[in-house]
Amino acid sequence: MGEISQEAVEKYLEDNPQFAKEYFAKRLPEAPGPSGALSPADEWALCAELLRAVQEEARGAEPAVHGALQKLAQLLQADRCSLFACRARNGTPEVASRLFDVTPTSRFEDNLVGPDREVVFPLEIGIVGWVAHTKKAVNVPDVHKNSHFSDFMDKQTGYVTKNLLATPIMTGKEVLAVVMAVNKVNASEFSKEDEEVFSKYLSFVSVILKLHHTQYLYSVESRRSQEFYDEWPIKLGEVEPYKGPKTPDGREVIFYKIIDYILHGKEEIKVIPTPPADHWTLVSGLPTYVAENGFICNMLNAPADEYFTFQKGPIDETGWVIKNVLSLPIVNKKEDIVGVATFYNRKDGKPFDEYDEHITETLTQFLGWSLLNTDTYDKMNKLENRKDIAQEMLMSQTKATPDEVKSILKIKEKLNIDVIEDCEEKQLVTILKEDLPDPKTVDLYEFRFSDFPITEHELIRCGLRLFFEINVVEKFKVPVEVLTRWMYTVRKGYRSITYHNWRHGFNVGQTMFTLLMTGRLKKYYTDLEAFAMLAAAFCHDIDHRGTNNLYQMKSTSPLAKLHGSSILERHHLEYSKTLLQDESLNIFQNLNKRQFETVIHLFEVAIIATDLALYFNCIFFRKRTMFQKIVDACEKMETEEEAVKYVTIDPTKKEVIMAMMMTACDLSAITKPWEVQSQASTVALLVANEFWEQGDLERTVLQQQPIPMMDRNKKDELPKLQVGFIDFVCTFVYKEFSRFHKEITPMLTGLQNNRVEWKSLADEYDAKMKVIEEETKKQEEGNMAAKATEDSGGGSDDKKSKTCLML
Ligand SMILES: [Zn+2]
Repeated sequence: MGEISQEAVEKYLEDNPQFAKEYFAKRLPEAPGPSGALSPADEWALCAELLRAVQEEARGAEPAVHGALQKLAQLLQADRCSLFACRARNGTPEVASRLFDVTPTSRFEDNLVGPDREVVFPLEIGIVGWVAHTKKAVNVPDVHKNSHFSDFMDKQTGYVTKNLLATPIMTGKEVLAVVMAVNKVNASEFSKEDEEVFSKYLSFVSVILKLHHTQYLYSVESRRSQEFYDEWPIKLGEVEPYKGPKTPDGREVIFYKIIDYILHGKEEIKVIPTPPADHWTLVSGLPTYVAENGFICNMLNAPADEYFTFQKGPIDETGWVIKNVLSLPIVNKKEDIVGVATFYNRKDGKPFDEYDEHITETLTQFLGWSLLNTDTYDKMNKLENRKDIAQEMLMSQTKATPDEVKSILKIKEKLNIDVIEDCEEKQLVTILKEDLPDPKTVDLYEFRFSDFPITEHELIRCGLRLFFEINVVEKFKVPVEVLTRWMYTVRKGYRSITYHNWRHGFNVGQTMFTLLMTGRLKKYYTDLEAFAMLAAAFCHDIDHRGTNNLYQMKSTSPLAKLHGSSILERHHLEYSKTLLQDESLNIFQNLNKRQFETVIHLFEVAIIATDLALYFNCIFFRKRTMFQKIVDACEKMETEEEAVKYVTIDPTKKEVIMAMMMTACDLSAITKPWEVQSQASTVALLVANEFWEQGDLERTVLQQQPIPMMDRNKKDELPKLQVGFIDFVCTFVYKEFSRFHKEITPMLTGLQNNRVEWKSLADEYDAKMKVIEEETKKQEEGNMAAKATEDSGGGSDDKKSKTCLML
């Protein structure tokens, strides 16, 4: 393509900070501001440094925040800086020291306050508490004149606080932490400029904290996304629904963890994760009973009880025997039962009494809060936190600029108007539509569509055309400016990598469109669903990094830490959802709440479905058989109406088909006619190249031998791998779709033709290898075994092959 990508520039600058510093120092005017302010060059270097720290830091937020506070102390010429975490215990908010007395040269280990040493304040005491309470920053020139000041800490440490700056770090409406800078050096107080510097650089601290706060919440969310896959077989009646015990509000009773406090002899705590059903506490049946009914059970002689089956003899080698038992449910703020606490054998040997019941009730309330962290459930519900994280920063770079929007929506040229807001929606629709490519001339309705003759910019127009073709723009009142900006932003969201780039994103969208229209699958879906499916298809690989999930996991990238499974797919999903949170990008802005929720749900199912790893595990296997069953059933039906009714009456069936459509779209490159575009082999090469690049990374960065598919030294085996891929992965998908709707047969035909081509290349290669093998044998027999042949022409020094393959 000739031009250097933005990414390449960024990478270069990051790798060469010295050069970057000098360059910016030369090019950008020095900031005039106060002594504490940075020049743009230093500012840039600081950004880069902090962001790198965030990405590389595996120990949690504190080390990165520590680095930021050190910089801050230096910038502000503050004697020291501290960070206080904000939290709630038993429903009461409080602040706790986390990083204390940070100076530009202090050591992290010395500043970090461990849980055992932390100083905790209620919000009523001290300026920090006041800031957390009011959620407003303060500049206090003289603490002794401030009514909120408490000298409690000074008395403890012997330090004398004179003046300070303090500001809350927010996520949404919640205060995560308070940062404080204490005692200006060489001046009697912090200035107005200091306040600005303070708030500016704290935005970094805020990003770091939010990022880690979000990671902390991730696991429950990933469980949630998995839910719809788990539910499908139940909804389709293939798996028995859960019939075991349920809590009074209808949740399944499953014990994930047993925490065993042993209070006899020496005190110790044993944690048993995923306890077996035959664990003695569970065998009795008591915890399940309590969870199911929410009752408090107090039993005098438990082993004699007929309803429960307590072990009569000693439980363990210490000879400990159960005598009396008190069991109560652990309840969270919303009164949901989240656990069961069971007390065995009162210490004095007497039975538990009413008074015990009362204290244990209080105790379990405490357990409900702290031990089981049930209040995190409430936090989990606040997943909108995700929106705020670093992605927001990223978004500002990728969002289409007004000029870019105008490169598609040509208001200047066509209407002689400069500002889009001055145009009427009707005018905009007209000028946009007349500029969009004709679907016929570019084959938009064809499975054989090829993006090769079309520029990346023109593909944005093609994408817009598809939305008009399915008639959703007018129907769902999508402002065309928003639609254009969204489409352009999606395009920019794709990085210029070898295969998973905008061209791939577009192709998947185009195939989704063709499956719906030409393949006539649209008849099972509403216009709204089709709209969501097309949009999701365009977004499905957005911000792909060219390395697959395995690499992300192996290299413990920040992304891997953020999401449990289907790492990249979850990232594509989050990214797509974040775009929609910006109203100027929200193409679904005129939908009602229920419609919008439908769209988001479809995005989730569709994008997660493109994780090919799911393809190989049991979830996909279930999806496969479910799809096959639907196709079987429809095949037997007399009329089309009957089949449509059979599918549309059941939302789960629609989802199964949609997930399968996503797979068919994602793999569609392999079905493109070999003869129509000899580039078909090039597409395979692009994919292969991206794999090989990852293989190189694995070899060099992770120092691991890549699998053959990703090993460029084994590139001659590509045809064989392709044949295998077609046979084991692709054939099923396209065969079943052709059986489902004969209109989709061109995809299967294309696939089968390509198989023939690849097979002949593979055979050719095999024949060649055979000759070489025989020759080698002969040579070896001729006592020439010294030279190994396998490494002859290989080598990974041809890394740059990537550039020549791009267009
Ligand atoms: Zn893809």
